[in-house]
Amino acid sequence: MDNEQRRAFTGQHESGAAETEAAEPPEPPSRLPPRLFPLTVKERERGATFPQSERSRAFRRRFFPEATAALWNDWRWQLQHRIRDLAGLARVIRLSADERAAVARHTGPLPIGITPYYASLLSETDPDQPLRRTHIPVEGEYLRDFGESDDPLGEDHDSAVPGLVHRYPDRVLFLATGFCSTYCRYCTRSRMVGGGEYTFSHAQWERAIDYIRQHTEVRDVLLSGGDPLTISTEKLEWLLARLCAIRHVEFLRIGTKVPVVLPQRVTRDLTRMLRRYHPLWMSLHFTHPEELTPEVAESTARLADAGIPLGSQTVLLKGINDSVPVMRALMHGLLKLRVKPYYLYQCDPITGSAHFRTPVAKGLEIIEGLRGHTTGYAVPHFVIDAPGGGGKIPLVPDYVVSRTEDTWTLRNYAGETYRYPDR
Ligand code: SF4
Repeated sequence: MDNEQRRAFTGQHESGAAETEAAEPPEPPSRLPPRLFPLTVKERERGATFPQSERSRAFRRRFFPEATAALWNDWRWQLQHRIRDLAGLARVIRLSADERAAVARHTGPLPIGITPYYASLLSETDPDQPLRRTHIPVEGEYLRDFGESDDPLGEDHDSAVPGLVHRYPDRVLFLATGFCSTYCRYCTRSRMVGGGEYTFSHAQWERAIDYIRQHTEVRDVLLSGGDPLTISTEKLEWLLARLCAIRHVEFLRIGTKVPVVLPQRVTRDLTRMLRRYHPLWMSLHFTHPEELTPEVAESTARLADAGIPLGSQTVLLKGINDSVPVMRALMHGLLKLRVKPYYLYQCDPITGSAHFRTPVAKGLEIIEGLRGHTTGYAVPHFVIDAPGGGGKIPLVPDYVVSRTEDTWTLRNYAGETYRYPDR
């Protein structure tokens, strides 16, 4: 499908989004609770400034008194002022001995990097706070446990050209950058993000685009990294335009954590640009309900209003989100933000991840605690990304009690048994 066909298919016209917005009928008021949605739809349409929660405002005034509200809401300022070392962390957080030692000895890829906004969500005093555990290293990160490896998904093996993974027949993973605004300590691509052995260049993008052009079986391109939304709007548009121009590419996807850790990046310029490249889908990386702030409600609202279907990806992490109440709160919150819970991943056996990994049975227990007990939309697929490059394998609780020649005996969510005739 070329650009013109794509526009006809999606009903989008060359005149662009901004000009047509004024003619659209008014949207109904949002049903989100005010805590998550401080701007009304009309305020957002009029270009009201980005929201700032009480917590972030207090953090800004205390630790970045020189930053005005406008600077704080400037995503480039957020990137420039990322917390990246021991001194920066110690300024805003009372580090435990374990954290302090781990940060002090850190070298190599997967550096420390936390946006001031995301730092405002971390507990100053509690090293066990879920969000703090996901972003501040501890000594466990330097241990190597049974079955762990630096590239557990075998992505390097399936790399068609540098930066392009072609594993499934009809789709490719396009690694657009090695940069993230905030580095997760359990990252599957820790070998390459934030200055690993990989480099990314324009020439490399061109080679990857050429490969896709030559492989007519590729109908779906997932842009990931690193985080593609850290790339400038102009460069990202260059890439999206090239990919959209390939006739056999039916749609694009972007995998990102930026709307969660750097929500200010979702500017009107960005959404205006993105909506020119429909059909475009987005997978957002969420970890815990404490990430569902007014700022994140705004970033997801802007993306959803730009017509981008939003799905979530969550890694199951020990002591962080491995319980039914926490996962239910996260999934319910996502639905209120118009994000469909999509994947719940068993944590990949990346080197140094033992302190994050739960038994596989824990994921099944969580799915069983959700399925039937809440809205079906709130139940993600629980998957293991098979080590060695086998792809995603879904796991579901066993609801089959027994099976005979003509009857299946099944168990429902409440533990009651039912029979289904099936000759
Ligand atoms: S945002 Fe994604 S790519 Fe970046 S460190 Fe986190 S998990 Fe890894």
